[in-house]
Amino acid sequence: MTAGVIRPMMGRDSQFFWDGTAAGELRIQKCNQCGAVRFPPGPACQSCDAYDRGYVVAAGTGTVFSYVVHRHPPVPGKELPIVIALIDLDEGVRMVGEVVDAVPDEGGDSEVRIGMRLRVDFNHVDDELTLPVWRRAAEEER
Ligand SMILES: [Zn+2]
Repeated sequence: MTAGVIRPMMGRDSQFFWDGTAAGELRIQKCNQCGAVRFPPGPACQSCDAYDRGYVVAAGTGTVFSYVVHRHPPVPGKELPIVIALIDLDEGVRMVGEVVDAVPDEGGDSEVRIGMRLRVDFNHVDDELTLPVWRRAAEEER
């Protein structure tokens, strides 16, 4: 265990996701019956109720749907402010994530904007945990 990091819940439904981040892949749960993708992961497909779960590896690009600049209260292991965004992945699911390297100096405004293109990166915390983080996408991915 690494002190000072908020550890996500890991369980049967989400293990594939964390195995993915450890391997440098952003995995999205996909129904093997109808092909619907979903996030967060769960046991049953919301489109066809099948329990036949698989996943796809996301391209790792998405668009900021909304975001907040978190300045207070303190977050263990984090130097504030941080930017937390809702990100619409190109595969059609929405997930929450931290946008790194987007916050600025004291009191400054964040560079993050709604509609901004992001690319996923992976923050290897320790052998058990790799967290996805997001950065501004390269020019050709916008
Ligand atoms: Zn389905």
